[in-house]
Amino acid sequence: MIKLGGTRVPMREQDPRERIKNFKSVPLGYNEEEVIQEAQRCIQCKGLPCETECPINMKILEMIREIANGNFKKAFFLVKEDNPIPAITGRVCPQESQCEGACPLSKRGHGINIGKLEAFVADWARKNKIKEEFHIKEKEEKVAVIGSGPAGISCAVDLRKFGFQVTMFEALHKAGGVLQYGIPAFRLPTEVVDYEIQYLNDIGVDIKLNFFVGQNIKFDELRREFDSIFIATGAGAPMFMNIPGENLKGVYSANEFLIRVNLMKAYKFLEYDTPIICSGTIGIIGAGNVAMDAARCALRLGVERVYVLYRRTKKESPARAEEIQHALEEGIILKELVAPKRLIGDGDGWLKETELYEMELGEPDKSGRPRPIKIEGSEFKIKVNTIVEALGSMPNRLFLSRTPELEVNKWGQINVDLNLRTNIEGVYAGGDAIRGNATVILALGDGRKAAESIRNYIRNKSRRNLVL
Ligand SMILES: Cc1cc2nc3c(=O)[nH]c(=O)nc-3n(C[C@H](O)[C@H](O)[C@H](O)COP(=O)(O)OP(=O)(O)OC[C@H]3O[C@@H](n4cnc5c(N)ncnc54)[C@H](O)[C@@H]3O)c2cc1C
Repeated sequence: MIKLGGTRVPMREQDPRERIKNFKSVPLGYNEEEVIQEAQRCIQCKGLPCETECPINMKILEMIREIANGNFKKAFFLVKEDNPIPAITGRVCPQESQCEGACPLSKRGHGINIGKLEAFVADWARKNKIKEEFHIKEKEEKVAVIGSGPAGISCAVDLRKFGFQVTMFEALHKAGGVLQYGIPAFRLPTEVVDYEIQYLNDIGVDIKLNFFVGQNIKFDELRREFDSIFIATGAGAPMFMNIPGENLKGVYSANEFLIRVNLMKAYKFLEYDTPIICSGTIGIIGAGNVAMDAARCALRLGVERVYVLYRRTKKESPARAEEIQHALEEGIILKELVAPKRLIGDGDGWLKETELYEMELGEPDKSGRPRPIKIEGSEFKIKVNTIVEALGSMPNRLFLSRTPELEVNKWGQINVDLNLRTNIEGVYAGGDAIRGNATVILALGDGRKAAESIRNYIRNKSRRNLVL
């Protein structure tokens, strides 16, 4: 018997002892009966707090209502009105600080499991081969989308719906951006991302892989060839600590580590020959989603001991709550209030150990979190043969160096106005390229907004040409 507002229907998951041996999805997903039960708990509050807190204001309440009545198809179409990639956002959004966080039932720790409901309807539609149906009235204007992450994907989908001819340029050999090369398959199964990319192909987006704009084609040439451009190049250039020993063998940026594991399939050793260090003790610096992903990948690669070395405490970690919980269940050791001073080699160029400071927390800094302060004289060493630096990343400097006319701020993020227009006529930008390290849902929202702005721009340009 379902109790309105009762306790959350538990999500079945792979056992931690089993899942650390594979890269398969950790949550096993609700079945039809469970998903209906979970949706029926919703008290359907009037103020729509869940929708207000969703960065793209999805029609969450109606979705839940349809699921509760077993109308999965209707729920899917509703979700798709606002969100082109619900199977992805349902899995990776930080729901606890957005929709679920605003659910009144969260106060008792049992907010509606909105992310898992969203992922369920999208998975259900995929398995039942149900796709959004729309008629494309073809137009001749051409739009270039640079980058195939969530910002590029959502922009390309909407531009095709508007009838424009869309070419997407992607520097890597697989499309999907961070969804493909960063977030591991045990959190976001590869087939889910591949399905969305195939969908782009199906609706007529021309995807050009291994194509770096600024290198394979000059930005000026692109401007001459296309009526408008959307820049969604992300923020994939890693930041470093700038401490002694960073050039030792065994020290990776999280981007390199995760690209090797996910995109270049180092975890399928023998089938793929991507080298990666996967034994001994590893230290991951940082405690956001990227750090947790690197730590959990390392564990699955066979590393014996995985430390997450964090200068604040678990409470201040920006990672999704579910990720931290899963990482700890799997045996990751979170060392709080420590920061590396230097990395020490073995004399042959290989990393041997790291020296760390103990830290304490001070007054809040600009991020609103307490400032970490090092305690002088507190240094101690731990043995590690691998370090992965997950300190955040910045927009790609190579692309920016080839587009000097594009205005950027001091962090290299592209300057845009409220309509995501850059300082160059007809050129728009969104996602991490304008925000720095942000989230999938914000990138998705930017892509949709940019598509709308591009439509208006092309419409006004055509009107101007008619008058002339
Ligand atoms: C490991 C990791 C885990 C994360 N986990 C989460 C999470 O759980 N939840 C969440 O909401 N967010 C998460 N994020 C953040 C989120 O993935 C990003 O905010 C989001 O992907 C940004 O989307 P984007 O489209 O702007 O850029 P990206 O996804 O970075 O895609 C940009 C694409 O542009 C391509 N590109 C760059 N320059 C060029 C060029 N000159 N020519 C052609 N192509 C180019 C790149 O190769 C890349 O494929 C995570 C990030 C990482 C790295």
